[in-house]
Amino acid sequence: MLVAMPELPEVETVRAGLKRLIGREAVIERVELTRPDLRRRIPISLAKRLSGQRITGIRRRAKYLIIDTPSASLLCHLGMTGSWRLAAPGEELAHDHCYLHLADGRRLAFRDPRRFGMLDLLEPDGHHPSLDGLGPEPLDERAFTVDYLAATCRKRKAPIKALIMDQRVVVGIGNIYAQESLFRAGIRPRVAAGSMSRPRLTRLIEEARAVLRDAIAAGGSTISDFRHAGGGSGYFQHRFQVYDRKGQPCARCATKLVGGVVAGRGTTWCPRCQK
Ligand SMILES: [Zn+2]
Repeated sequence: MLVAMPELPEVETVRAGLKRLIGREAVIERVELTRPDLRRRIPISLAKRLSGQRITGIRRRAKYLIIDTPSASLLCHLGMTGSWRLAAPGEELAHDHCYLHLADGRRLAFRDPRRFGMLDLLEPDGHHPSLDGLGPEPLDERAFTVDYLAATCRKRKAPIKALIMDQRVVVGIGNIYAQESLFRAGIRPRVAAGSMSRPRLTRLIEEARAVLRDAIAAGGSTISDFRHAGGGSGYFQHRFQVYDRKGQPCARCATKLVGGVVAGRGTTWCPRCQK
């Protein structure tokens, strides 16, 4: 099993699963917290603000899940091991930290054994220290454009891999999908961001979107039981071309893949296909 933070496709898969699970017209009757903190303190007012509220939407921003109600939203980060599931009476598990009791009698459980996740309130104005300053969504074609990326990369000596993993530049691309996008675009991870031509940046944007869309489609199609949606188990379903494949043959040209540390993380690339 690969131990990795859930990235955008995993969180998007969890969002879609939660939305299907909750359906329309769900009301949170009561919020039950079993501990006062995860990575950070859970606000004392969270239960009160969300109890009795109708769920009006379930969104994702970067790697955050947002469950909207008219009063406030529940802002959730899965951390490394967070997951949501339906838990009928008797189906409680160790490390269930939050239960949303729905008015129709069902109960949603948030479980996070390693407690790197987060539960917080998001006010209706949408401002939160974790969200303010985030870059555009990679799948947003109006915001994540070649003009934007070229302007951001201009004169930057940092490796292109570091730029696309920087959440202020573009959100949701972590170590796995940065490597996969760069492989598909034929770009070496260490290339200085400022030296990238517009055609290469255009290609990188297209490949980043394609790899994320493929992963979302794979995650979405493999989840039949939502219990398996969180905690990174969906990684089993993905076929990675370079991630964690150092020393193995390139899927395109059979050259042995090489590796090194780029942007602070282990990185693999093909010395022939990526320039
Ligand atoms: Zn190759």
